Amino acid sequence: MLVSHVTGLSRVQLITQDTRALDAAARQQISELAARRLAGEPMAYLVGEREFFGRTFQVTPAVLIPRPDTELLVEQALDRMEAFDAPTVLDLGTGSGIIAITIALARRDARVWATDASAEALAVATGNAQALGATQLHTALGDWYGALAKTDAPRTFELIVSNPPYIAAADDHLGQGDLRFEPAGALTDHSDGLQHLRAIITGAPAHLASGGWLLLEHGYDQGDAVRVLLLDAGFAQVFTTQDLAGQDRCSGGQWRDQNAAGRSSLK
Ligand code: GLN
Repeated sequence: MLVSHVTGLSRVQLITQDTRALDAAARQQISELAARRLAGEPMAYLVGEREFFGRTFQVTPAVLIPRPDTELLVEQALDRMEAFDAPTVLDLGTGSGIIAITIALARRDARVWATDASAEALAVATGNAQALGATQLHTALGDWYGALAKTDAPRTFELIVSNPPYIAAADDHLGQGDLRFEPAGALTDHSDGLQHLRAIITGAPAHLASGGWLLLEHGYDQGDAVRVLLLDAGFAQVFTTQDLAGQDRCSGGQWRDQNAAGRSSLK
């Protein structure tokens, strides 16, 4: 991957042109990148890109590196969106934009809003949207729903999705592997791991159309807690699905205004 990145040669070309010599500058660049990789820097940051849902997204150290697990959230979102024509979609904490952009490209009729608290992250998302042709993507800078104030975003959405920072401050994983190099603000709430999930869930009813869905990625051990939060907030059809490793990874629920009366009976 590093040799491909520096030389611009594809994997096939590396095999079929294996007598080709590298010049000194390329050799130097490759050994510098290899040294950084050996020191633990994630491959995605070294080569500046990562594939998600069959497309290549640019990534920088300002954004979380796309994970295949997040494709589950996108699949769940696209399934639920089939019930709506020209849906309005909100992706909270978009990072590199993978969720919002993949949805926008799969559903050309959707109007998609993507927010992030980091201007640097929004710049990465905007660049990816332009490069991949997601022309109906709007971005907004700020915290969760607060980002929408002073924009012309719709009052309610048919779908709200988010992969928020959900790793608990005390979780050892934060000191391991790629996570050491990713922005802490994209990984952890510096608390019990549920603070941002809670804020997104409790804020969602004010921003969801009746019949609209809230879908969230979360940690492997947070499914039970997230379903309780969704039920407490009055959501119906509350569910959790598992990622490719069989771990609870995505939970969601449907917002129905008529639930309001029967809310207490859910508890
Ligand atoms: N899934 C990521 C990890 O465990 C965390 C992503 C997030 O906090 N949203 O490495």
